[in-house]
Amino acid sequence: MQKSAREVLEQAQNEGWAIGAFNAANIETLRAIVAAASKLRSPVIVESSSGETKFFGAENLVDVVKNFREELNLPIFINLDHSPSEEEIKVGLDAGYELLHFDGGKLPFEENVEKTKRIVEQAHAKGLLVEGEIDHIGGSSAPHLGESAESAQKSTTYTDPDKAAEFCKETGVDTFAAFFGNVHGVYKEPPKLDLERLKKIREKVDCFLSMHGGSGIKDEDVREAIKVGRIAKINVNTEMRVAFREALEHDLKKTDEVAIYKIMPPVIEAVQKVVEEKIKVFGSEGKA
Ligand SMILES: [Zn+2]
Repeated sequence: MQKSAREVLEQAQNEGWAIGAFNAANIETLRAIVAAASKLRSPVIVESSSGETKFFGAENLVDVVKNFREELNLPIFINLDHSPSEEEIKVGLDAGYELLHFDGGKLPFEENVEKTKRIVEQAHAKGLLVEGEIDHIGGSSAPHLGESAESAQKSTTYTDPDKAAEFCKETGVDTFAAFFGNVHGVYKEPPKLDLERLKKIREKVDCFLSMHGGSGIKDEDVREAIKVGRIAKINVNTEMRVAFREALEHDLKKTDEVAIYKIMPPVIEAVQKVVEEKIKVFGSEGKA
């Protein structure tokens, strides 16, 4: 019997490692994630943002992830990442996503609580997990190599530990996305994390913690954040996107091949390498 997402998150939190949540918008990226998980016997979460979900199709993505899970007998879960509305949450819920992230960070606190609570009720009735957030994370899942991470941190609201505790208690979310200097994207210099704040969030908040912006944070800082915050889920996107594009550009220059299945294997390998490195840093290797 395979472990549920909740059981894996509990195990990660108790044992001091984190499960990686890797974004996939196409079959090549998905294959890369699955190959890395299979090679390192690691549980993984595949996730899709709003744009990625529309590109792949929610039901298609769920089906493919479930096929891989059965074929490889691995704990591979599927998460709807940063869903901006209740309508989009419903698409994920109906399609069979096991984890749903409602991003109400831009809403007034009371409205965010009200909507998140409603989503939690619907999701829990189906045995699904919900992630919530109260802040606005800066940056975007792209390389910003001309900028320092500080510029993105300036547009991020750092999580207030007391507000976070109140939000989790009132909504009943399973996972809380905490912001303590982590930002989306990769920058000239990695962001500096406010681990004192993370420690306070951990003390006050009684649910799983997730860390977004897992690309571009120094490995030792990621390990420290897992230790200090007992972070159980870490999101990664940008570094995989960059690896995909660079490998594809490199390949296309070398060949006039037109069969896609012959062009893509080195691209898949490049993305797989990123996922493997993250799995090792997060400590989830061998935990499947
Ligand atoms: Zn995110």
